[in-house]
Amino acid sequence: MDSTSSGESLLPSVEQKMYFQFALQNEKIENLITYLQTGSFVVGLTRNQQTVIKRQASLYTWDSMKQVLYYLGSRDGKKKVVIRDPDQLTRVFHLYHGNGTGGHSGWRGTYEKISQRYFWHGIKEDIRHYVARCKRCQRFTPFKTMAREVKPIKVKSPLEMTGMSLIEKDETATKDTHDEEDK
Ligand SMILES: [Zn+2]
Repeated sequence: MDSTSSGESLLPSVEQKMYFQFALQNEKIENLITYLQTGSFVVGLTRNQQTVIKRQASLYTWDSMKQVLYYLGSRDGKKKVVIRDPDQLTRVFHLYHGNGTGGHSGWRGTYEKISQRYFWHGIKEDIRHYVARCKRCQRFTPFKTMAREVKPIKVKSPLEMTGMSLIEKDETATKDTHDEEDK
């Protein structure tokens, strides 16, 4: 759980914080998985915790072959791989924000790309924080940010959005990842 396999120190210090959240989340997730697998609760859970797990169970499904937990509650109706391993999170960030096809797009673009396939609690906030702290984004200010800074007008929409979504579409189209399977 603590292995630092990737040599690149792209990830900002916020990563530590996310790892911590992951650790907390992980216990709950493991309890949920146990319930999905066996139909019974981990010993020692309170009534309350059991109720929560029961309620959550309808939103998740466990693939015992792949050892992957899927989230079914997304608005777009697609099932999402639940990220529950910090290393997996790191890879996802590298792939969808960093060197892979990420191209260091803004947090919204990064979020859209990642959330098409993955889910975890606090995903939006984590991505927003992550992108805001990304060392490379800070060093090489992307054109989108520069454009926003140069223009004194508060354009938050049509052009900017179109530009972003075009780029994102392109990047996602070229990338078909099976990240969750490479264990
Ligand atoms: Zn970046």
